[in-house]
Parts: sequence; structure tokens; C-alpha cells
Amino acid sequence: MSSRFSKLASLYSRLEDTPSYNSRRKKLSEFFSSRSPPDVKVAAYLTLGSIGASYEDTELGIAEKMAVRAVADAYGSGEKKVKKLLEKRGDLGDAAALLNEKKRSTLTISDVRSKLIKIKKASGEDSQKKKMELLSSLLQDAPSNESRFIVRIALGNLRIGVGEQMLLDAFAEAFAGGSSHKSEVEDGYNKCTDIGLLGESLAKHGLSSAKRFSITLGRPVRAMLAQRVDKVSDILEKIQSDELAVEEKYDGERVQVHKDGNRIILFSRHLNDITSQFPDIAEALKKSIKRKKAVLDGEIVGYRKGDFLSFQKLMQRRRKYDVSEYSEKVPAAVFLFDMIYLNGNSLLKKPYPSRRKALEKSVNESGMVHIAKRNVSSDFEKIREFFQKSVDKGLEGIIVKSTAKDSVYQPGNRGWLWIKWKKEYSEGMRETFDLAVVGSYHGRGSRAGHFGALLCAAFNPKKDRFETFTKVGTGFTDESFSSLQKLLKKHRARKKPESVVVENDMEPDVYYEPGLVIEVFGAEITRSPSHTAFRKKGKGLALRFPRFQRVRRDKGPEDATTIMEIKRIKDGK
Ligand code: ATP
Repeated sequence: MSSRFSKLASLYSRLEDTPSYNSRRKKLSEFFSSRSPPDVKVAAYLTLGSIGASYEDTELGIAEKMAVRAVADAYGSGEKKVKKLLEKRGDLGDAAALLNEKKRSTLTISDVRSKLIKIKKASGEDSQKKKMELLSSLLQDAPSNESRFIVRIALGNLRIGVGEQMLLDAFAEAFAGGSSHKSEVEDGYNKCTDIGLLGESLAKHGLSSAKRFSITLGRPVRAMLAQRVDKVSDILEKIQSDELAVEEKYDGERVQVHKDGNRIILFSRHLNDITSQFPDIAEALKKSIKRKKAVLDGEIVGYRKGDFLSFQKLMQRRRKYDVSEYSEKVPAAVFLFDMIYLNGNSLLKKPYPSRRKALEKSVNESGMVHIAKRNVSSDFEKIREFFQKSVDKGLEGIIVKSTAKDSVYQPGNRGWLWIKWKKEYSEGMRETFDLAVVGSYHGRGSRAGHFGALLCAAFNPKKDRFETFTKVGTGFTDESFSSLQKLLKKHRARKKPESVVVENDMEPDVYYEPGLVIEVFGAEITRSPSHTAFRKKGKGLALRFPRFQRVRRDKGPEDATTIMEIKRIKDGK
């Protein structure tokens, strides 16, 4: 029997009032440790504000206008009154809770998810009306505090400050003998990105089950990432391998291709299903991959008749509408560089040379499907030559890969088996950082009424929070400025999000939920009492002379540069 949803709703209320990371994690872990495994699964999804795994399409598709109507309908008040309350409180969940006088709770955790799934599934011509009626009926069954969180989940903005990292930490404490086992739990998540399934399995079988997960079709693993070095010669020190494979580094969108018979699914680095954005690439892959079941790793790039297009150009293809028009405007191709699953077998533990061989044997190249160009050698000069050739071709650099016996595919890991070397490093240019926008300051003069500067934060994965690193006010073009204005609207928060750590003197005029990631150039990392990244003795790391570079729409906030990476760059390691 599933537990009452009221227990989960009251946990959410308590979390909203608890600022400390450790206390929040403790509350979560206490809750999870006393739930049945199926409830752990469902509660995990709901706690992240969703009804399923992150790679699934979980949006309910109900417009805020219809949700307003559902609240009005459920609690017998006029829509005007609901709208007024919404304006006043800035949150429809809070408005619902104020209007709702119901006391008795009957809903279970599993009821709530099943009913939300029904809302998602409502389709057809009058789908908005159907969704509205279903939500209204669910709200009629929910007492005040429960309706607050149901509405927020339905609209996709639960905002209780719990991210994947905190949930994994809570799982470690609840089921795996404590936080010291977080990395093993995380490793389970790198392979099983369905956080509900992972939680259920940990609740049922304990920590050993996290190790048993492997890759399966239709469920993406987290992408393996590359380290960076300061001097190109450091690569030799870091990669313990007689021969090195040097591959071209393509600047586009990371993609994990799952092929199951005639079906192709494309997952982004952030584990979103992006197949519908690239129907042309999916079609080309279907023809090119000779195997029935396979998972491949690669990069989609803008590509016109042999010329690489810019990353910004490719990002124009991130759209729901006019997809076919844009596949012509911005032609793309995919460059495959790894193969991690073949006809029922995981290749994750195979060394790079045998995965590469499997890749080459499994793919017929075409105008739209390529295998990453590479060179394998033990001669360092060859690496330099290959790098120069790649840059001359308009590429951003190279990825050097170990060919040693232990060169396995490490999902979600930024290790020393892959090292990137980019053009700007070799030119002694400044570093770039991918940072989450967490606030903005009002502009003056020509920017009056808009933002003047953005407060940007790095990610602290250990504490699942965002620590401020710099304030960016330059580098915007008219175009990027107005697009940022639009993109940021979606993330506006009423108050400081729990997951953001800000010093008083850096308080922005507007806060944003970490969501949008931008790439920022900087000249120097210093220590400053105004920033909170990697704070020690009252001073955090801070980036001087920052300059906006571009929006990284392919990255989620948890993919932002971490505070550990920044520390490493500062120390020159
Ligand atoms: P950057 O910001 O430097 O582009 P990133 O933060 O997106 O990098 P990194 O892991 O640091 O990600 O760099 C590796 C990325 O480079 C991969 O995620 C992938 O998207 C891309 N890439 C391009 N070509 C290759 C290749 N041949 N092998 C591996 N990754 C490649």
C-alpha cells in the first residue's frame, strides 16, 4: 500500500524552511528510509518535480491559464480571484493552498503520480480542456498543503531546492550505509539515469544493486567527459598509455544514439530526447548503422558541404516548430567517436581500441554520418601536427584518448582517459567557464529596464548547490542580449533559490532558478570576499574581467563548471 501523499507534502514544506544542506539531506533520507521501494521510486520522481525519469518526456503540457481555471473550478472561486492571488503570491500552488479549505487527506503518493500521468496523456483536439478537468478533479481530492505542491509539479516548477545530487546523497544515507558511499551511488546513477529505478533498487537490495546496473537500450548513460591540461606536454604525463589516439574535437551538441531495430533515439548530454529536433540525422543514422541494436556516442555539428558551422548556428535547431525548414537552413551531420553497446552486450568495460574497432565495423559513413577522424601514435610531434591540422580545418581542437588496457568508457566521469586541448589554450588565451546564471542587476542608461549584468555561479556537486563566481556585464551583442532577456524570463524566481549561495554584497535585483548556462571568458582567478565559489576563510574564488561568450543551451545547470575544476585551474594542476 502506498503511503499518503500528505507525508510527502509535509516533507516539502519542511524542506522549504530548512536552509542547511545537511539538515535537508537528513530529512530526505529519513523520509526515504521509511518508505516501501515502489514509493521510493515514485517519491524520487516527484521530489525532482517530475513524473518520470529525466530522459523521458515528462511535461504535462498544461498551460498556466488552464491550471488557473482548474484551481478556480476545484475550489469554487472565480478565475479573477485566482489570478489576483497568483499575481500577489507569484505562485499558483500557493494560491491554490490559500483557496482550498479541504482538510481530510485521502491521496497516496502513487495516486498523485498516476493522476498526473493521466493529465499528461490527455490528447486530441480538446486536450487542454481534458487536462484542466483532470487537474481540477485531482485538486478536489487534495487538502490545502497537498494542492500547493500538486499544482507546482503539474506546472513543472516544484522549486523546493532538491536536485539530483542531493537526492543521491540522501539515497546513500538511507540505503547505502551513509554519505561516504555517495560516489558508489553516483556511479550507479551514471549508468542507470532513471533515478526512481535506482532508488527503488537501492531500497530493495542495498548498495550492491547500484553496481549491477549497466547500459540498456532506451535508457541513456551519462556521457564520459574530458579533462584539460595547462600545457600540451602535460598530456603525456597524465595519460599512462604507450600509444595515444588523437581525435578531432567537434564543436556542436553531444549525442548518444540508441538504435533498436528501426527505432533511433537521440539523447542530449543533458539526457533529453532530442530526436524530434534532428529527424534528418536520425534517418541517416538508421541507414548507416549496420547493427540491429547499438548505442553510439558522438557530436552533432552544423555542417554544410564539408564546412563546419558555428555552435550558435547549430543551436538554431533547438526548436519545437519549423523543424524541417531549419534542417535546410542549418544542415547538420553527426561525427561518431564511440560505441558502448552492441546487440545485447555492454561495451562499457572494453578498452577504447576495441570499442573503436566495433564502431568502425558497425557504421557505413555517408554525407551526414561520419566517424571521428583520428591518428594513433606514440610520437608526440604527431599529436602537435594533428592538432594544427584540425585547427586549420576550423575545428576547436583535439581530444587525446588513452589506448591502454584500462581505457574503459566511464559514464559521467571527467577522468584522465580523455584529455581535451583547444585552440585558445595553445594561444595562451584566457580560460572559458560554463556558468549558471543565478541573478541579474538592473541596467542603466541604454540598458535601463533590462539587465545590466548577470550574476553567475559554478556548481558544487558535493553540496548540490551553486556558488557565485563572477558578475558579467560585457561581451553581449544586441542579439545575444535580447535572446538572454527572453531565456531568463523562464527562470525568474520570487526569492533566492535554496540551492544558490550568495554573499550579501552581491545580492542581485532579480534571482533566477539555476537553469540557463552561459560560457564566460575570464582573465584571472582571484580570491574575493564577495563570491562564494570554493569559499575558505571568508573568501571565495572569483573570475576577473569576465566576458560573455555564448549561451550553452546544450548544458543544464549541473553541467556547469564545478568549483573543483576552477580550483584546479587556479592552482595550475
Ligand atoms: P567544452 O566546453 O570545452 O566544449 P564541454 O564542457 O562541453 O567542453 P568536455 O567534456 O569538457 O565538455 O569536452 C568534451 C566534449 O567535447 C564532449 O562532451 C563532446 O561533446 C565534445 N567532443 C567533440 N569531439 C569529441 C571527440 N572526438 N571525442 C570526445 N568528445 C568530443
